[in-house]
Amino acid sequence: MIQLYIPLNFLGVIYREIKQSLADMERLFSLLDQHKEIADKPDTQALVTNGAEVRFSHVDFSYETNRQILFDVDFTIAAGTTTAVVGHSGSGKSTLSRLLFRFYDVNQGAILIDGQDVRDVTQTSLRQAIGIVPQDTVLFNDTIAYNIAYGKPGASHADIVTAAQSAYIHDFIESLPDGYNTMVGERGLKLSGGEKQRVAIARTLLKHPAILIFDEATSALDSKSEQAIQAQLKEIAQNRTTLIIAHRLSTIADAAQILVLDKGRIMERGTHMQLLAADGAYAQMWMRQQARPDEALASPLEGADE
Ligand code: ATP
Repeated sequence: MIQLYIPLNFLGVIYREIKQSLADMERLFSLLDQHKEIADKPDTQALVTNGAEVRFSHVDFSYETNRQILFDVDFTIAAGTTTAVVGHSGSGKSTLSRLLFRFYDVNQGAILIDGQDVRDVTQTSLRQAIGIVPQDTVLFNDTIAYNIAYGKPGASHADIVTAAQSAYIHDFIESLPDGYNTMVGERGLKLSGGEKQRVAIARTLLKHPAILIFDEATSALDSKSEQAIQAQLKEIAQNRTTLIIAHRLSTIADAAQILVLDKGRIMERGTHMQLLAADGAYAQMWMRQQARPDEALASPLEGADE
């Protein structure tokens, strides 16, 4: 019996391995399919920006066929101005930035940059024009200089230092034993949330994009880092078309336009003062954050419709 058990057990292992490989191949093909969907069309031209006005024109979107995420989302970010998006967790804020970056294509409507549909321009030129400071910056297991230079392959050391200085992270880097050659990432020095976000800001500054997307960290940074990052954000957003996905309303009070997203629909829009005067969901949110500033960090709309 034991003589039979070993080969049968071995066959079982092989069977599971083959099944797993097939599942992996299936996933690979579905990824390739997805990639095919957003491939450049044969006659695509490079994006040409002139101020970089961003327009979402009546956009509907779903990741999966049976669950719509965005409904008739329609707004314009005038060239060189800042628009902020606030809303419940899951309302579709980050989806807007994924669509602008063309990780996915819209189901209905269009996204235009200076009048050019993002589906009609090369992905390389599109992604060169957009800089993203994400919520949680992924650092490569490499030097801090490499991690900053990633924004612009071939950047000189002087460029890297200038970007780090503008992102107020130069002094911190210089204080490390290996300076710009310090290894960071999972296997190197662990940076705090604020330090990582500053690396991302330096990366973005080096890239010098026409459009900036700032995905504000959900988790609270200490208030000193927070203030420093907000000040830097203001600086780099100046005269640059900027989309802020905001979790703290204090960050966005001076944005040219604030959109309140609710379950994939724009529920309110206007400046901070206009929205306060409208006395709707945004005004409620603002009041709550003023009363309990620490509580409002994770999701500014939480409880707004209680
Ligand atoms: P948060 O404030 O928590 O970051 P958000 O408003 O940015 O949330 P999105 O990340 O845009 O929300 O997600 C909107 C909805 O889309 C959520 O319900 C989410 O579950 C769904 N979703 C996001 N990414 C995917 C994906 N890759 N596939 C399927 N559904 C997704």
